[in-house]
Amino acid sequence: MRLYLAVFALLAAVHCEELFNGTDQVLRINAESKNHIQILKKLERDVDSGLDFWTHAVSTEQPVDIRVPHSRLYALKDFLKKNNIPFTVIINNVQELLVREREEMVRNAEVERQTKSFNFAAYHDLETIYKFMDTLVASHSNLISKVNIGSTFEDRPMYVLKFSTGGEKRPAIWIDAGMHAREWISHATAVWLADRIATDFKKNRAPVPSILSKMDIYLLIVANPDGYVFTHLSFSPINRFWRKNRSATSSRKCNGVDLNRNWDAEFGGPGASDDPCAEYYRGPFAQSEFEVKNIAKFITSHSNFKSFMTLHSYMQLLMYPYGYIGIDALDWPELHDVATKAKIALYSLHGTVYKVGSIFHKIDQANGASLDWAYLRGIKYSFAFDLRDTGEYGFLLPADQIVPTAKETWFALKYLMKYVCDHPY
Ligand SMILES: [Zn+2]
Repeated sequence: MRLYLAVFALLAAVHCEELFNGTDQVLRINAESKNHIQILKKLERDVDSGLDFWTHAVSTEQPVDIRVPHSRLYALKDFLKKNNIPFTVIINNVQELLVREREEMVRNAEVERQTKSFNFAAYHDLETIYKFMDTLVASHSNLISKVNIGSTFEDRPMYVLKFSTGGEKRPAIWIDAGMHAREWISHATAVWLADRIATDFKKNRAPVPSILSKMDIYLLIVANPDGYVFTHLSFSPINRFWRKNRSATSSRKCNGVDLNRNWDAEFGGPGASDDPCAEYYRGPFAQSEFEVKNIAKFITSHSNFKSFMTLHSYMQLLMYPYGYIGIDALDWPELHDVATKAKIALYSLHGTVYKVGSIFHKIDQANGASLDWAYLRGIKYSFAFDLRDTGEYGFLLPADQIVPTAKETWFALKYLMKYVCDHPY
């Protein structure tokens, strides 16, 4: 295997120049044996490979999607063929999709400016999302308030929307999105959800009023503002596919910590990297990052959260703890049953199929993940969504899928929130 990896690096160098002006592709690899999985895992650990793993090698059941910079395409395809590992190209021209996405955003911003309206079927930058939040709070001031929970590494405020009909520190539900910067569908879904919760309350549509008569809902639309801003700086893959936050690290050439490996939940285990250049860099110590610290402090000091839900993408998964270990959580029967029913509710709208399971079994071993942190601190109803799609577009989900995604997610969330409300503990 060492030989093949060395060959891979050499070929990458040889072909770098002649293929310089091309586009990245996303390859889907279908591992057929444990040996294939070991080879792919090793490749992912090699941060110098230049490969961007969108999904991981866990089992032969689940495909591995890799964004391959153009300069590495020839070498990787050759490497896979030599190792008899089958693959297909699922995104042939990444650059074309990036340009199309950017053009759509520019066009939409112009229409929004002219019509002075907010289009839920479009992706927005941080500034526009923050303005949207202000407008929403202003028009629903009897229900929503904006809470600043602290600043990021680059000194941007982190705002949580609090939906409350009164009372002090009522039992509460936490929902966050955008912890990983490139997962734009999660931010866009959260924006739609904020509006939907407000509208359903105003129009007295079940189950929102009854939930809000007993509980508060806290919604953090952008959990990683610095990373999100970075994804908007240009339509180059380096920006658009940024996952981590933007903090300085011990490496001069690499920024950013994976915020979903930085939590004080079995931090430092094998399900994260200690290399600052890795996509899954856990940070120097548990909760070293401002963004994680701010959320953890807020939830801990509130001390009455009954549910913790976090929106990511992609792969259409609804997951519960654990991520750090493959054993079942104590509440597994209930969590599995509730997640399965939520998945059925989601399916009922557009027929979108989700899979249910623990993070460890559905994605990969993950140490320092927020879901485990919440669960280990006694928040029983802890769930993570990986939203659409299953790889046709991956992180470049077209904007016309935002509202259908948000609506079906709402079906699952409504079920989950009502269940939490009906099962106090
Ligand atoms: Zn994520």
